[in-house]
Amino acid sequence: MNILIFAPNGGGKGTQASLIKGKYNVSHIESGGIFRENIKGGTELGKKAKEFIDKGDLVPDEITIPMILDTLKKPENAGGWLLDGFPRNKVQAEKLDEALKAAGMKLDYVVEIKLDREIAKGRIMGRRLCENDNGHPNNVNIDVIKPDGDKCRVCGGALSTRADDQDEAAINKRHDIYYDEENGTLASAYYFKALADKGETKYIVLEGDAPINTVKEALMKALD
Ligand code: AMP
Repeated sequence: MNILIFAPNGGGKGTQASLIKGKYNVSHIESGGIFRENIKGGTELGKKAKEFIDKGDLVPDEITIPMILDTLKKPENAGGWLLDGFPRNKVQAEKLDEALKAAGMKLDYVVEIKLDREIAKGRIMGRRLCENDNGHPNNVNIDVIKPDGDKCRVCGGALSTRADDQDEAAINKRHDIYYDEENGTLASAYYFKALADKGETKYIVLEGDAPINTVKEALMKALD
């Protein structure tokens, strides 16, 4: 099964992705996570991406698009994927659609999690990253995934914050990009909604202000 997931930054897409990837046996491909791995590893790609990420800007399409299209074609992702964080603008949506069609890959579902901008902002600022696993959700502003003191609630690993999560200007910029229905991320989601209207894929809308488990159950019901 191949799935695209959209939500504003802080909207819970990473959390939902980590909850469902096992059940559907899909690789969770997270564009922001690939960049962070590269930054951590000190690669050329990481060095180029960091200056954009720190400011909340998009990493240029010339870097991001081939990086994601190459990842989708890797043998370890042939069993299905859940793509999170890409596409984020209309050009990326068009390139992804073209590449999937050229590779004969079906896009089974497109998921949009809706969430108010102010709520999303509070969640971003509360988010904590586990040193052992990106998929361990911890958030000091969400009761059910509150960290265990200053440690990961899943594995006890050390927690840190992302620099771009504590910088209000960077958060606002990321949200300006997300909520832009003309050229931004919502425009790219609506690109796929139009394909769903033609029967090429299925488009699922979820309300992101519900508790994590309610969103998860609604998502699983829609995917089954
Ligand atoms: P995220 O973890 O999804 O919030 O992504 C963190 C940052 O990585 C974003 O603010 C962008 O700077 C960069 N990034 C992630 N995905 C993309 C994308 N599809 N296109 C361009 N930049 C991206």
